[in-house]
Amino acid sequence: MYNLHPVRVYYLDEVLEDPRMVARMERMVGAMQLPETGVQEFAREDVPSVIEDLQSAWSPEMVFDEPWGPWARPVVFTVQDLEDTKPEYAEIVERLPEGGALSHVHQLLGHIDTARPYHEREDDWQKNFVCWPTKDFGTMSGCPHGCQYCGVGKSSFFTAIGLNIEEFMEVAVPRTIAERPWQKCFRMIGWGADHIAWEPEYGVIDLYTRALAKHDRYGYFHSTSSNVEWLEDVEHRDRLIGIWSTTCESVARDIEPGSGPALDRITAAAKCEEMGIPVRFKFKPMIPVRNWREEYAEIIEQMCTLTNPESIGFCVVMWNTVESLAQLIDFNLLDPDYVQAAQDAAEEMRDVITGPFPHDVRAEIYHYLTEQVRRWDEDVLLYISTESREMWDEMADALGQRPESFFCGCNPIGLPGGKLAVSKDCPHSTYRRLEAETAEV
Ligand code: SF4
Repeated sequence: MYNLHPVRVYYLDEVLEDPRMVARMERMVGAMQLPETGVQEFAREDVPSVIEDLQSAWSPEMVFDEPWGPWARPVVFTVQDLEDTKPEYAEIVERLPEGGALSHVHQLLGHIDTARPYHEREDDWQKNFVCWPTKDFGTMSGCPHGCQYCGVGKSSFFTAIGLNIEEFMEVAVPRTIAERPWQKCFRMIGWGADHIAWEPEYGVIDLYTRALAKHDRYGYFHSTSSNVEWLEDVEHRDRLIGIWSTTCESVARDIEPGSGPALDRITAAAKCEEMGIPVRFKFKPMIPVRNWREEYAEIIEQMCTLTNPESIGFCVVMWNTVESLAQLIDFNLLDPDYVQAAQDAAEEMRDVITGPFPHDVRAEIYHYLTEQVRRWDEDVLLYISTESREMWDEMADALGQRPESFFCGCNPIGLPGGKLAVSKDCPHSTYRRLEAETAEV
């Protein structure tokens, strides 16, 4: 686990009811540098004062404070509600300090979703995304990386970690698999989280792979971390697929302050390959920094020289207006021509989910990145991630994959080895509707 230096560590008193949770917390706390306040217990009625204390101990600017940056963000251990309820907690909410919200109460008291659906077909059609419908797991909310394009990484003032992992594997995993018999691969990703950063002390991946083996499924860890050595001791690591959200060095340094150099993720992936774990990469978000061509060309060369990924994907930073992106990332770091293009297209892109960079800018970037990969590797499967239908129409030939049936990164039916487990319930990507839906329209 990282050598975290949280400025506060709290745990919900209900953790003490299960020795397995206590042991897990002790392992994790033992790997951290504790603050002067030590490890503090709280009860349900204490939540308002805990939130007040966490807010006073942490502010978003501390993400860039030397030497610990986002590794100093407070940590709260809790018991995850496996029924996914979201009580109103009116009597707690009315006592919250300014800036406190029901969502904070939920996280502290373990109302952290066990699983969430993404990219349902109807949704992707409305938003003009192309992806695959999936459901992901999570046991925590928050992350030590502090990525500035991520709302949680930038602004959350604590990380909430569920400790009842044994129960999670007995209840949440089989329930979700039973709901979606056609889904073969599930991410353990959490919500603005990065599970492998907390291993092996957390032990979630070990138990997750055991559960996956029992149900004959595969699982992704989806990470910007290079903390992988411990995977050698995971008995069922053959059930795992490693996906890295990766980038160039200046983005890693300036925008992802807690995640380490970009090259480290590639060497981590190479170690995973040696352990027999298939690896895939996503340049997501690709951020067009000032000298992005040289920067991305360099890291792609390293990637293709040091590893043999099953796929490499691209996604230019999106889901923003030009104004909201300026709140997240310092525009002085970016290619001025592209900033200008985004500003010029601000109105046209206002309600376009793939904004703020207009189609032509994104297409130019994708063509360039594709060419760079093909300099080194003619065969690796390439894709664009959560892009528009129009972008797929433009890029399909260059990428060498079809938008209906592309193999990508965290694909719900993307088996190790580069094969899609298509079925009548998931015959193609969200580029197309299911035939039954089309018939109803
Ligand atoms: S890698 Fe594939 S499944 Fe995952 S988000 Fe991108 S397009 Fe969707």
